[in-house]
Amino acid sequence: MQTPSSEQTFIVRGMDCASCARAIETGIAQLPGVQRCELNFTTERLHVAGDISGSVVIQRIRDLGYDVLESDQGAVAANSAAPQPADGAPGFLRFMWERRDTRLALIGIPLVVPGIVLHELLGWEAFWIDALALLALALTIVPVARGAWRGLIFSRELTINALMTIAAIGAVVIGAYVEAGLVLVLFALGEALEGYTAARARHAIASLMEVVPQTALRLTAAATEERVAVAALQVGDQIIVRPGERIPMDGIVRAGTSAVNQAPITGESRLIEKAPDDEIFAGSINGEGSLEIMVTQRAADTTIARMIRLVQEAQERRAPVQRFVDQFARYYTPAVVLLALLVAIVPPLLFGWPFWNPAPEEFGWFYRGLALLVVACPCALVISTPVSLVSAMSAAARNGILIKGGAYLEALSRVRAVAFDKTGTLTAGRPSVAAVRAVHCAEPATDATGNCSACNEVLALAGAVERRSEHPLAYAISSASAARGLSARMPVAEQVTALVGRGVCGVVNGREVLVGSHRHFDHAIAHTPAHCAAAHQDAAAGHTPVMVSVAGAYVGTITLADSLRASSREAIARLNRLGLAAVVMLTGDHKATAERIGAEAGVTEVRGELLPEQKVAAIEELRQRYDSVAMVGDGINDAPALATASVGIAIGGAHGGANQAMETADITLMSDDLRQLPFAISLSRATMGTVRFNIAFSIGIKLIFLALVLVGLGTMWMAVLADVGASLLVTLNGMRLLGYRERLPRQEEAS
Ligand code: ADP
Ligand code: MG
Repeated sequence: MQTPSSEQTFIVRGMDCASCARAIETGIAQLPGVQRCELNFTTERLHVAGDISGSVVIQRIRDLGYDVLESDQGAVAANSAAPQPADGAPGFLRFMWERRDTRLALIGIPLVVPGIVLHELLGWEAFWIDALALLALALTIVPVARGAWRGLIFSRELTINALMTIAAIGAVVIGAYVEAGLVLVLFALGEALEGYTAARARHAIASLMEVVPQTALRLTAAATEERVAVAALQVGDQIIVRPGERIPMDGIVRAGTSAVNQAPITGESRLIEKAPDDEIFAGSINGEGSLEIMVTQRAADTTIARMIRLVQEAQERRAPVQRFVDQFARYYTPAVVLLALLVAIVPPLLFGWPFWNPAPEEFGWFYRGLALLVVACPCALVISTPVSLVSAMSAAARNGILIKGGAYLEALSRVRAVAFDKTGTLTAGRPSVAAVRAVHCAEPATDATGNCSACNEVLALAGAVERRSEHPLAYAISSASAARGLSARMPVAEQVTALVGRGVCGVVNGREVLVGSHRHFDHAIAHTPAHCAAAHQDAAAGHTPVMVSVAGAYVGTITLADSLRASSREAIARLNRLGLAAVVMLTGDHKATAERIGAEAGVTEVRGELLPEQKVAAIEELRQRYDSVAMVGDGINDAPALATASVGIAIGGAHGGANQAMETADITLMSDDLRQLPFAISLSRATMGTVRFNIAFSIGIKLIFLALVLVGLGTMWMAVLADVGASLLVTLNGMRLLGYRERLPRQEEAS
């Protein structure tokens, strides 16, 4: 896996703020051979692509003063091992106390308090106030200056640490001792606060894993029970889950029945009845019954483990807004530093305005330059976006919605049209055979089950072909054939070929049997207008007529019924209320069927009889019209359309066959309840609102202080305090999304 030019992953520890992450990125990017590197502050994961050995990267990270864990695939384990800081102010204080650098800053706080209150606010001058401030400075400057030095030496970069160090030393030079101590203590405090909130945000995702027990009760060969670690379980092991316990592994029920709450995985709180042969997920809560389960996945591959891994990876893909912020910060900081230089030099030189600080009531231009260095720190700005996106993605995951990156959250917030696949998405996707109509139907000649022999023949032939097909209709036909005891009558078809979007054909007893749509038969197989009319009638009732031919001759029609999901109507009503311009249904099914089901669901537009490539074309056309379009499907036969949409959303991620959808779709709804979609859209809009506010707010504060400093009203410590305050505010504002609640489906259901 680790060939030199492939991508390598490292876990970096000890970053306090998003600026640290950027400084490390710059330092790594300068190493020879590195093509691309991305370090995510919230997940602590560094991805390096290029022709470079891991040990060089690790050395550089250590040189820059951070800890690094070896490249690692099982990042879930590594991340959940990260210490989780406790809640509230006491938790924060303990967090600061536990690390040496921040402990020094903590001691510095009481030392600068007299400075703020007596000196800055009340205007006292006293030797002891200055002495205390200098002591605080001495305690806090070491780690900051060390960071500055390392950035300068290894990355040739003027980091935030450097700006702060210069500002503090400059303040000492002009005799503003209290100012110098304050700047560094406040800065250290702000950094610690960011580190603390990031550690908590990090934990929000790792804690999704906490719902899975660490041990399981395994049945031994001797039918006794033993408690073992889940990591020791093998596929095929039998485990017992007692009533009320959490399910420890993905598996298949072998014995017992119970109503299980799968909310931690799918987000739907309704209880699901589980019986033998049903699928079950790690993290679900068992109800009243005891279950015997056969393990089907290793502990690291359970659905919830994969979900968490995907959410973690998702955070590392930067959304366009985030790139904008990074880009802005990249220019903002050097620009303000340059301005600081000019401010310190130009006015005194050109106009003879005071350079040194002449009196407490008037700031000299050197001082204003130093204060601008402080204003140049983009801390609040760079933390504003990732913290919001991470919180939103965790909130989504908690509700059973897997979002594969901030970019999709952003795209989703802009979606103006949503297209749905019909079969298996709007409908339950479990069609059943409603009627069989053979050309030679002879009512009197019914068999013991009440079915005419000609009709049975049609069903048996179709069933023989469909047993080799994976289409939902195929399953319905072959099981209906089996249920009537017809499957033994015919051999399974040979040379079975799927005519995607049209039907399926194969050879049974040497004769070619074709099962397919009315539209396809109109092109391919002769049938009378009466047969057409009958098929139309089925379709107008919302059923799907499927025609059957043997050796090129039409022999009959099988009618299938697939009902709308109970949740679809409500989901679409809510989408309409969200103000979307269009809610479209796309299907390969009969036009009349599509119209009927579409009307029932409440979509604004229906397109039927589409071949898979026509679905893709329809999405392209919708994108032309509405710019941003989401496509929702089950991921089975609509993958090209999902890929064409601005956002491809797969449903039923937690269910067997479609499991692949989780890895490929942009967004996956873990349950098949479409009401998760309006929730996801509202969440994405709320998120982008928060992000925009945070960006505007943090840039606004910077601009205000820029102006205040220039006119001589802003002090250095106020500028740091404003930055710390703004960081805290945007962080808290972003973290509010963790608890985002739309009027959730389950609540409406209850009322
Ligand atoms: P959808 O858009 O509803 O997912 P598809 O594109 O898979 O539908 O199929 C379109 C139509 O083609 C179906 O409504 C059916 O008439 C026909 N068809 C496709 N596959 C099969 C099959 N295996 N057996 C019978 N009919 C099929
Ligand atoms: Mg389909």
